[in-house]
Amino acid sequence: METFFTILGIATIFLIARYFVFISIPFVYFYKLFPKKYAPNKIQSKNASTEQIHSEIKHSIISSIAFALVGAFVSFSPFKNYTLIYSDIEKYSFWWIPVSLLIAFVIHDTYFYWMHRTFHHPKLFKITHLIHHKSTNPSPWASYSFNITEAFAEAFVLVILACILPMHRVTLFVFAFSSFLINVYGHLGYEIAPKWFRNSFLFKIMNTAVYHNMHHSKFKGNYSLYFRFWDRIMKTEIPNYEQVYDEIQEKRFPQKTQNQYSSKAAIILLLLIPSICISQIEGKWIDKATGAVVQIYKEEGKYIGRVIKAGNPNEDKKLEGKKLIILKNFEQKSINKWCCGDIFLPRMKIYAKGNITLLNASMAKVTGRYLAFSQSFIWHKIE
Ligand SMILES: [Zn+2]
Ligand SMILES: [Zn+2]
Repeated sequence: METFFTILGIATIFLIARYFVFISIPFVYFYKLFPKKYAPNKIQSKNASTEQIHSEIKHSIISSIAFALVGAFVSFSPFKNYTLIYSDIEKYSFWWIPVSLLIAFVIHDTYFYWMHRTFHHPKLFKITHLIHHKSTNPSPWASYSFNITEAFAEAFVLVILACILPMHRVTLFVFAFSSFLINVYGHLGYEIAPKWFRNSFLFKIMNTAVYHNMHHSKFKGNYSLYFRFWDRIMKTEIPNYEQVYDEIQEKRFPQKTQNQYSSKAAIILLLLIPSICISQIEGKWIDKATGAVVQIYKEEGKYIGRVIKAGNPNEDKKLEGKKLIILKNFEQKSINKWCCGDIFLPRMKIYAKGNITLLNASMAKVTGRYLAFSQSFIWHKIE
């Protein structure tokens, strides 16, 4: 018995700590740090009042104690001998772990749907479900804000699962933890499902934050917890759910109109036109500093530059006579850049690695580098 109470104490501390840690994080992130950034994701424009949040926290702490009590009863009291929970991983096949987890969610969803609908009965509502519905615009703090009767009824699903579904201890823990996180998402007040989710088959099956938020704002309909099955079978799904979801989706991921596309295309075209014009280096170029003229042309996919008129009559005449190849092996790297070629540096009389940048349609900067030495020329196009 002493062990049971120790376990109960640890479980209570763990569940309360879990509540504060995993709710503070999304609350601070969405409500305090980036409310403007996530404004399109907000389901209801108003925020919960401070009084409401204080009440949600108080009731969630009480619920956490109820959950710890039921959890400890199922896992650590003599009752555990009557359950199907197992510790030896080899007792069932490995595939049973994910399958049992999925079945647990389906059972929980079914249990929750019918329990929830029962609580909405006018004769039971006040003593079972009123506190949860005080949050008409829920914040994540409302996740476990229940009447004590509802808290025990919610936790009772653990007893049902333990009795009818063989589950490994770890699977049960993963189930309880995932269920908690899904519940936080349902009360987040912000829709955060990815864009692709809307057009996938999962949208027709799964609940969303919008789905449960509408249950709080409309009070009737959308009773289920994880899936849409029961609400659709029982025709209790709020009819304009998909429409409301789409309105938020539209705000989150605005569709670009035809006009926006056309103007964007026009801008790209305008930017491309001068680029296309300046992308040509083939032709005759003059180095105005020396008067030398170079003919650039393409041969076997590479760009070559040949001196066709020497600049310095004393030195370069010799070069002109030999029709010096001043550029070779250049390749186009981008719209206005050619690189990785060899350039003859007259002063050093060597070929160095070089590149050419077109500054505009008629001006190019030619640079050669040899070890720490570099030399640049500005050339102008003459034809
Ligand atoms: Zn309800
Ligand atoms: Zn709720």
